[in-house]
Amino acid sequence: MSHLRFKQIEIALNREPFDVKPPHPDPTVYFGQHVFDQKKMATYLPRDAYEELTAAIKGKRAIGRELADVVAQGMKKWAMDNGATHYTHWFHPLTDGTAEKHDSFIDLDDEKGIITDFSGKLLIQQEPDASSFPSGGLRNTFEARGYTAWDISSPAFIHNGALCIPTIFIAYSGESLDYKTPLLRALNCIDRAGTKVARLFDPQVQHVISYLGWEQEYFLIDEALFAARPDLVMTGRTLMGHESAKNQQLDDHYFGSIPMRVQRFMEDLEIECYQLGIPLKTKHNEVAPNQFELAPIYEEANLSNDHNLLLMKVMAQVARRHKFRAILHEKPFAGINGSGKHNNWSLGTDTGVQLFKPGKTPMQNLQFIAFIAATMAAVHKHNDLVKASIATANNTHRLGANEAPPAIISIFLGRQLSKVIDQITGHQQADGQIMFSAKEGLNLQMAQIPEILLDNTDRNRTSPFAFTGNRFEFRAVGSSANCASAMIVLNTIVADQLNAFHQAVTAHLEQGDTLEQAVMEQVQQLLTQAKPIHFDGNGYSEQWPQEAASRGLDTENSVPRMIDAYSTPKALALFERTHVFSQAEIKARSEVKWETYCKKIHIEASVIADLTQNHILPVAIRYQNILLDNVLKLKALGKQSSTSPVNVTIEHIAENITGIDEHQRLLAQAIEHAMAQPDSRLQAFAFASLVVPHIDAIRHHVDALELLVDDEMWPLPKYRELLFIR
Ligand code: ADP
Ligand code: MG
Repeated sequence: MSHLRFKQIEIALNREPFDVKPPHPDPTVYFGQHVFDQKKMATYLPRDAYEELTAAIKGKRAIGRELADVVAQGMKKWAMDNGATHYTHWFHPLTDGTAEKHDSFIDLDDEKGIITDFSGKLLIQQEPDASSFPSGGLRNTFEARGYTAWDISSPAFIHNGALCIPTIFIAYSGESLDYKTPLLRALNCIDRAGTKVARLFDPQVQHVISYLGWEQEYFLIDEALFAARPDLVMTGRTLMGHESAKNQQLDDHYFGSIPMRVQRFMEDLEIECYQLGIPLKTKHNEVAPNQFELAPIYEEANLSNDHNLLLMKVMAQVARRHKFRAILHEKPFAGINGSGKHNNWSLGTDTGVQLFKPGKTPMQNLQFIAFIAATMAAVHKHNDLVKASIATANNTHRLGANEAPPAIISIFLGRQLSKVIDQITGHQQADGQIMFSAKEGLNLQMAQIPEILLDNTDRNRTSPFAFTGNRFEFRAVGSSANCASAMIVLNTIVADQLNAFHQAVTAHLEQGDTLEQAVMEQVQQLLTQAKPIHFDGNGYSEQWPQEAASRGLDTENSVPRMIDAYSTPKALALFERTHVFSQAEIKARSEVKWETYCKKIHIEASVIADLTQNHILPVAIRYQNILLDNVLKLKALGKQSSTSPVNVTIEHIAENITGIDEHQRLLAQAIEHAMAQPDSRLQAFAFASLVVPHIDAIRHHVDALELLVDDEMWPLPKYRELLFIR
């Protein structure tokens, strides 16, 4: 009998919500309390040091040793005043998480004995032995040192009693080993390229800033039930489990009332995030049972991404406090929606203009259209790379499955913007209006854009990349991913396109064209070129993959093969031109991606094999024996019949047991075959095409058994028990 399962269900059912008390009723009082922000800098640093540091942050300049020493002293004082005893460089290795190594502030001094110390040297740079982080062969173990260096654009903060200093992480030889380094390069790149283009319209512009607002989806599962599911514990997702009779068909969870226990968890999380300066704004139920979402106010992309990584960590801790586990896996449950992390992305100038927002004057609208055209052209040209940026083993289940988004990158524009673009490219004469060309009629139509876009209400949830009024929403990003991967590619390709745009426009200007003529000429060209990427239709439809292929879009749906997009000649040239990745870095990162893919699938294969062998088969056989016993007894009474329901059930159980047995054997062979491949790329291909199908087949048989075997005996909490928090 499955005592554990029922015991855990009982524990989960009897939980009470925890009380949560905010430090103050007004969140503005404690917002950023744990962050060494401008206000704290002003208090804890001498005036000239404060001014020098804020100027360096604003101008994105590195700081010298002397200033670093002063800043370190101030930071230490503030941190210790606020209960911190340790400090750590906080960085983002090529895993989907963060890394830290805590050192105490204490030191020994010849005269005074024990003291506390924190030097500028320790603040700005460290050399952790980081040989066990993935490096894709970039760092041999004999050169195990990596450097971490302070990213002054992201403020230090206190978490778990440690002063955390956001840093980049690079190899001894200079190659990046993290997400932050290339993200900062890409952001720098789009700043320079965007500024050049924006200055055509307004010479006051000094910087273009890339913004990110993520929407984090997640599931909550009661801790007791989670513990009784080894697959969730080991892989972050359920590898078996039949759909419950009721899941999301009734659409009654989305925006529904939030259960009290969850409500308390969310309040607690919000408080901690506010203290850490993470501006959470929205929280609600998502489509699937037990699925939720939260989103902050958007911020500059680097900071926003740091905040997302921090949030994922804080979320895990707060969830435990409330006896939940936060599940960030992209597809924890079959048959219901998975989790994503929409990346709302936009560009803006330091003069306060949102570049993806239609403006008030024809000139501003020309600029708006120029940036839209550049983005469309970039995503069109590099649609394979954009997809590769979000391709992971976890996200596989969301790509090309029956839920958003399909494994094809296309751009949704909405009715109004589509109309404007069709007019510009002359493909459609909408509403009998006069089409306008580069040379004429520009002002009139451009002036109409703001009005047209006012009711941008038509939304298309099946699009992986959608224009939503003042930004693009990249929806294919996975819930557990580091957003940097997507943000690096997106900002780099658009920066590259903006550079080309600027060059072409400048050439026209030199030939005596007006700015309007030169820009419109380019805009028309780009929009015409990029036309195949524009798709406002239903991304779920059966025709779309075929149509997309005929448009020349990348329709590859095997994750390991998608990763090849990083090393096409086109992509390598892009990264070299923009200095975002060296060839060696691309090679190493692709290596890491394939290795990670293999490891994840390998673990899933081992877990499902063990679980099936040790948990499922014994129970199925035991139940089958009970039934056989029954048949024997009936036979003794002379009442047997081979078509009786008992006999049919015995048959079905036997079929599934045989099926499991067969696929277990094939699975083992497939793994062996995959592991024997000469490199990680081919290994990943083999895991995807040979191993995964057997994992799926075993699951199919186990799920069938779940319906056949006596509920009393079933060892694992079922979907209906996991998924409905009361
Ligand atoms: P929805 O679910 O309708 O897409 P949400 O309110 O859940 O909207 O999330 C929208 C996200 O987009 C938020 O993080 C918000 O701050 C962000 N956002 C809004 N405007 C911009 C913008 N101009 N640039 C980047 N992100 C933005
Ligand atoms: Mg959204």
